[in-house]
Amino acid sequence: MTKEAFVDQNMCIGCGICADNLPDVFHLNTQGKAECFDPHGATEEEIQLQAISVCPVTCIFWRESCAC
Ligand code: SF4
Repeated sequence: MTKEAFVDQNMCIGCGICADNLPDVFHLNTQGKAECFDPHGATEEEIQLQAISVCPVTCIFWRESCAC
């Protein structure tokens, strides 16, 4: 089991900070909400420090994932 980031899009205000900081992990969709399109586009530490910790509405979370 590994963990990966995901965005609660009901809470996301579309500020773009996560996508600006980690463009290989997050982008804004056509509704202006952030999506984690590549959970492995950065290290867990980078995602924690440059996205989760700086999201103004705290809507990026970790969830467990598996390769199955
Ligand atoms: S930093 Fe948070 S509020 Fe801003 S776009 Fe990313 S997920 Fe949405």
